[in-house]
Amino acid sequence: IVSERVALVTGSTSGIGLAIAQKFAQMNYSVALNSFEPADTWFGLVAELDRLGSGEIVYVQADLADAAASRALSDQVLSRFGRVDVLVNNAGVQKVSPIEQFEDADWQRIVAVSLDSAFHAIRSCLPGMTERGWGRIINIASAHGLRASPFKSAYVATKHAVVGLTKTVALEAAEKGVTVNAICPGYVWTPLVAKQVADQARVHGLSEEDVIRQVILAPQPTKQFVQPEEIAEMAAYLCSDWARSITGSTISIDGGWTAK
Ligand code: NAD
Repeated sequence: IVSERVALVTGSTSGIGLAIAQKFAQMNYSVALNSFEPADTWFGLVAELDRLGSGEIVYVQADLADAAASRALSDQVLSRFGRVDVLVNNAGVQKVSPIEQFEDADWQRIVAVSLDSAFHAIRSCLPGMTERGWGRIINIASAHGLRASPFKSAYVATKHAVVGLTKTVALEAAEKGVTVNAICPGYVWTPLVAKQVADQARVHGLSEEDVIRQVILAPQPTKQFVQPEEIAEMAAYLCSDWARSITGSTISIDGGWTAK
């Protein structure tokens, strides 16, 4: 029954994760929100989402750069609700730098937040899904899970790895009513992208307006940013029964980027 569904969305206080959490709240799912700040930071956001539907909204603090916190997140949600039916591995961070200057700490943080956290959450949540014979795992990868751009070595490497993880778990879960897919967005206008405009301007020696036109939207044939709600609608569709045969897929929402 749809109203009994419980979703965990990692990194869901902003951007794409927040749009997905809002959509699920409107669908009367109970939703566990997550980020690294203490819970009182997000009381207002929890109350706002609570008003959208009949499910229960909770916030679970976990800094996914920290391995112990990352391992503990799903267990906290499982002990709170007794189940996770829909897992969205969305948390992700970016760092734009030539590889010669890439710091160990940045590399490790990106791998931990984007890839290790997905592994930890899938390992904890999948057994309950397969026991109940229904589940949805949605990994927010990227066009950078399918194509590369310079100066984003850690990001591109982890997003390709997330695609590999998606396909592997899809095969393991294929007969159990659990689908596992990767959504691969092109540039979506979120704080993550807004923050990298300045970084890109420095690396490329361009003004911020030129970065948006010549660098950021250059690979996106539509020349338009994707909106977070477009990703949320796809996540909702993947949770429908009509999407039961979509598994192990990479679903591009990238304005034509990977058509090239
Ligand atoms: P965002 O910066 O707006 O939001 C990221 C969320 O993750 C925030 O809620 C943040 O608090 C949380 N987060 C960051 N570090 C964390 C940590 N250590 N522990 C727990 N939570 C943490 O970013 P976004 O643009 O919405 O990106 C969401 C996902 O979509 C990421 O995986 C990103 O790589 C991917 N993506 C984004 C774009 C884009 O253009 N915005 C394109 C393709 C893929």
